[in-house]
Amino acid sequence: ASAIELRGLHKRFGRDTVALDGVDLHIQAGEFFTLLGPSGCGKTTLLRILAGLEEPDQGSLMVGGKELTEVPPHRRSVNTVFQSYALFPHLSVRDNLAFGLKMRGLPAAKRDAKVDEIADFIKLGDLVDRRVDQLSGGQRQRIALARALVCEPDVLLLDEPLSALDAGLRSQLQVELQRLQKRLGMTFVFVTHDQDEAMVMSDRIAVLDSGNIQQVGAPNDVYERPANAFVARFMGHDNLFAIHRSEGDWVETEIGRLRLLPDEQRDTADGWLLVRPETLELGPEVPEGYNRLEGIVRERLYRGSRIEYRLEVNGQAVMAVASNLGQRIHREGDEVTISVCPEDLVRVAA
Ligand code: ADP
Ligand code: MG
Repeated sequence: ASAIELRGLHKRFGRDTVALDGVDLHIQAGEFFTLLGPSGCGKTTLLRILAGLEEPDQGSLMVGGKELTEVPPHRRSVNTVFQSYALFPHLSVRDNLAFGLKMRGLPAAKRDAKVDEIADFIKLGDLVDRRVDQLSGGQRQRIALARALVCEPDVLLLDEPLSALDAGLRSQLQVELQRLQKRLGMTFVFVTHDQDEAMVMSDRIAVLDSGNIQQVGAPNDVYERPANAFVARFMGHDNLFAIHRSEGDWVETEIGRLRLLPDEQRDTADGWLLVRPETLELGPEVPEGYNRLEGIVRERLYRGSRIEYRLEVNGQAVMAVASNLGQRIHREGDEVTISVCPEDLVRVAA
């Protein structure tokens, strides 16, 4: 496995499109690293630069301590799996897997041995003599992966490899892919626009917006401590409330006055307060030291294991989630007292 070091990468297409706007990243050897961001934010461009399919306008790129910017694609110890499988449909699985090895001039006997090994490894041993067009989508994606692995690259790049699959298969392959990466100890750079997929698979995530890295961190860091409002929204947080004024332990927000813990206190008022729906308690009693708000239930969504409430607090929509375990169920139109512990309130930069 190799570490990857990217410094000051810039890439522009034509005059107006800035695909990468100064990207610095350090990816550790053997890490499952994910680039996460909306469509058009520059994820594929970054991978293509790593693969050598695109040249950066500025910046440097090192893999395993070696400067790569000038090394042509086929000399890089980097392989790519794309969203479209890019397999030869009329060839057998064996011929598809052997293709890269053949290009590298490996003799037939060695090729066969390697293909059998990788096919067993990825649990496709009994399919090697089938034609690719006789296989399911999930099997094809596994073969695309095996084909990228068979040349034993130091780094594997994966550009949304699961996004064409249906939900069930997708979550199965998420788990398999993550196990495989840990077993091989290879560096994976994985691209997705799906924050749940990123959280479940990655050691670390880089969130990108318009060619800029917004935050790099472990899944729980990025989710629980988003660096700014863009990251918070992209990670799926709905309850972000503007802070109008700060005063000691207290902040004045769109939904009311709330007490924060000392480490959340800041002199500036600019920014947002993040309130996770599962931290709001609905009920008449307010535990000691908790913040108290008053609201009205505007909507109730039954989700089986939990119940979601859309509340109105001080004219603002606030989401709350309660587990569906012997809790009192509130109805639309009910007035409710809401408790929230200062510990659960997080300040997010603008
Ligand atoms: P993502 O993979 O995150 O969806 P891309 O890296 O594909 O984003 O694209 C980033 C930006 O660069 C987009 O605005 C896209 O339209 C533009 N872009 C990407 N490739 C090209 C190209 N070959 N020519 C012109 N514009 C491009
Ligand atoms: Mg893309």
